[in-house]
Order: sequence, then C-alpha cells, then structure tokens
Amino acid sequence: MPLKILIIGAGICGPAMATLLRRSDPGHSVTIVERYPEIRHNGLQIDLRAWGIPIMKRLGLLEKVRQVSVKEGGLALVDSKGKIKAVLGINDSGAGAQSFTSEFEVMRGDLVNILYEASMKDADEPATGKGDGAQDPREEDGPGIRYRFNVSVTALAQDEKGVDVTFTDGTTRRYDLVVGADGQWSKTRRMMFGEDIGGAMFRRLHVHIAYYTVKREPGDDELARIYHIGNGRSIFRRTGDRPFTQVILMARTESEEMRQAIERQPVEKQKEAFEKLFKGAGWQMDSRFLQGLRESTDFYADSLGQVKAPHAVKGRIALLGDAAHCASAVTGMGTTVSLIGAYTLAGELARHNDDVPTALQAYDANIKPYIIEAQKLTLGVPHILTLDSQWAIALLRFVVWLVTSTKFDKLIVKLAGENKGGLQLPDYPELKLAPATEN
Ligand SMILES: Cc1cc2nc3c(=O)[nH]c(=O)nc-3n(C[C@H](O)[C@H](O)[C@H](O)COP(=O)(O)OP(=O)(O)OC[C@H]3O[C@@H](n4cnc5c(N)ncnc54)[C@H](O)[C@@H]3O)c2cc1C
Repeated sequence: MPLKILIIGAGICGPAMATLLRRSDPGHSVTIVERYPEIRHNGLQIDLRAWGIPIMKRLGLLEKVRQVSVKEGGLALVDSKGKIKAVLGINDSGAGAQSFTSEFEVMRGDLVNILYEASMKDADEPATGKGDGAQDPREEDGPGIRYRFNVSVTALAQDEKGVDVTFTDGTTRRYDLVVGADGQWSKTRRMMFGEDIGGAMFRRLHVHIAYYTVKREPGDDELARIYHIGNGRSIFRRTGDRPFTQVILMARTESEEMRQAIERQPVEKQKEAFEKLFKGAGWQMDSRFLQGLRESTDFYADSLGQVKAPHAVKGRIALLGDAAHCASAVTGMGTTVSLIGAYTLAGELARHNDDVPTALQAYDANIKPYIIEAQKLTLGVPHILTLDSQWAIALLRFVVWLVTSTKFDKLIVKLAGENKGGLQLPDYPELKLAPATEN
C-alpha cells in the first residue's frame, strides 16, 4: 500500500531513501524537507566502502561515482618544513583492507548531486529544486518525490495510525511515516527521545575538524600529506587529480571555548577559532593555508563524535544515517552507514507490505550488526591523527617508515581484510533493484 512519508534532511541518506522508496513503490508520496535554502554541496573527500559499494551498484549509480572519484596516490607524513618522512601507499590489490585512501574517494558535493539527481529523475513531477518553503498542500498527497527547502519541523505527535507534523511555517500535516535524516545533531532524535537523552546519544571524540579548499599549486601532487604539529593538532592536504587542493585541520581539545565556537557560533567565529589554534604551526600554514582559511567560501567545520542510540525507531518515526548511527569522519564509514540504513529501512517497509511499526522494528534489529562494525574505531584513533608530543610524532614517523620500507604494511592490509565482520548485504528483492552484478 502506498504510504505518505516525510523525510527530514536532504544530505546523503535523505535523497537515497527517497529513491529507494520510489523504486519499491512508485505510489509512495515522499516529501523531503531541508532547513537550508538549497542542497548543501560543502564538504570534502568522503569514502564509499563495504556495503555502500554494492548498494550504489544496485541503484545503478556506481559508474557515476567512479566517473567523479578522486584519484589519490597514498598518504605521506611530513615534517614542519614539508619534508616527506614516510609514505603509506594505497591498497589497489582488490583484496584486503582499504587503507587511508579507499577505492571510491569522492567529493561530498559530487555524491550529494548524484543522489539528489537520481531522486529527481525518479519523480513523476519534477521535484522543486530551490524555494522559500511555500507549498501547495494538494501536491503533497499525490505519488512522487518533492523537496521543500528552507523548512524544518517544530513538533511531532504520533498515535497508532500516523504522525502529525508541525512545520516551521506553522502548517501541520499528517504522515504514515517520518524519517529523521537530519545529521549528527538531529533535532528529530531530540524530539523523539527528549532533549537531554537524545542529545546525550552523541558521544564526543573531543576532536574538531575544519574542511576547506585552496588554489592548487604546482607542488600539490596526487600524494596526500599529513603534518602532525603536536599538542593535539594536525593538518591534512589532499589534491589527488582535482584542480583545487583540500585542507583539513584537526584539533583534539577539551576546551569549552573551542566547542562552543564550533557548535554554536557562525562560520566567521569558527574560522577565528581555528586560526587561533593553527597560526604559526609550520609547514604551509602561515604562508598559504591561513589566507585560504580566511578567504574560503566552502569552509565547513564540526565536532567529531559517534551517535549511539539504543534504538533508532519509535512507533512510526525512524532515524537514519548520522542522526541514528553517526560513525564519525575518522572511521570513513559515514556514507556507507547512510546507505545501508536507507537500503534496510526501505527494504523492510517493502517486505512488511508497509506495516510501518513492524517494518521499523525489523529495521532497528537488522541494522545493528552493521552499525557495530561501522563504528569500530581503529586502535589509537583519533589520537594517532592528533598526537601531543614531539617524541610520539617522531616515533610514529619512524614506525611508518619501517613498516612501509619493509613492505610489512602491504601484508597487514591484506591480512586485515575489508569484510567488516563478514556481513553480507541483505537481499531485498521487494526493492526491485538491479542485481549487484549489473551496473
Ligand atoms: C555541509 C556538510 C559537509 C560535510 N562534510 C563532510 C566531510 O568533508 N567529510 C566527512 O567525512 N563528512 C562530512 N559531512 C558529514 C557526512 O555528510 C555524513 O557523515 C554522512 O554522509 C551521513 O549523511 P547524512 O545524510 O546522515 O547526514 P548529513 O550529510 O549531515 O545531512 C543532514 C542534512 O539534514 C539537514 N538538516 C539538519 N537539521 C535539519 C532540520 N532540523 N530540518 C531539516 N533539515 C535538517 C542538513 O542541513 C543536511 O543537509 C558533512 C555534512 C554536511 C551537512
């Protein structure tokens, strides 16, 4: 039976979920609300790994991802003068664990575009691309996918038959299902479980991270660089085969001032907070990256953490992606978690013939093993990326040099495997997707 569904958030998993719903039942009426005035293209390189790869394949979108994927040659550890001390290569053997650079590295904006366009293509009527959130109520009841920008939700009230949603424009509508795909700070999660409990599900790693791009310079090659500064700070530089260079600043600190700046202040204040911590850091910071930081128009910063929600569903409301299961950027699994979540939720809805509460319970139970695997932090992370003392930095560079020069790293990644607990992608023929062998 076709359902009336509201998705809150048009990041990675919102559009992916809409597309999967539409493929399984073109009769579904799907509305996506996004609090920003348009799709957000910010963000730098993200990874598609493990189950995320066959899901994109089954959606027929993997080739599109391959076309825009960033070619990177590995990661070099550099000192304060930019001198290379050790190089970690990529694992292009097709077997074993992926290293820092995965097979599918893609700019977040490109992936968002691919998923958004796929959802638009699936819509009967063209989805509204941009807008002031104004809505023709008649449109909301028909089959298809539609976006409403500049709109959010202020209240959710559910009974056995549906969810009454109040929007920021004061209107109220009723849905069979509400999906919170609104990121790691999810307001939906806080509305479901209460401000305190929902908020506390986000577990901080006490690392703040800033992403922006600068002009590509002749020395910016395919090898990414990491410069450990000390005192919990590091700088990444990544160019790959792109015409621009990505700068990532990482700062591990329990400073309340820094936390407030990143989580509560506007972009200009966030930039100032990073400038204060990174000025005089060495390498290309003062000569290049500081100016780039001040001038950047694509700057994005956030605090790193993981969301550990005992349950991602309540009645007819479900959480998806970072809102439910944020794995954090240091796992490289955020995109994959979003996709396996959307695939499982859409699959269970189709399997349970749209018995929403039962499908949501099945989603909640079946997604758990995948989340446990995805949220596993590699030993020493995030500290190893943000070391404090100079001796620890020197030791890390020596160890990496030793294992890579003896090719021991190749053996480790081969033995480690990328099978993520041996978990296979569940099969949902009800979703009517292409087999994983086709593209
Ligand atoms: C602008 C941006 C840049 C990012 N850059 C990186 C990066 O460089 N590297 C990295 O590893 N990860 C990055 N991330 C996080 C990454 O996208 C996610 O970890 C992951 O892909 C999971 O996607 P998601 O759809 O669950 O969440 P997100 O991609 O975070 O999308 C959530 C969406 O919900 C919207 N939203 C939030 N609250 C509301 C609300 N109350 N009402 C309506 N809409 C709402 C947000 O504006 C956003 O569009 C970024 C996220 C964003 C939003």
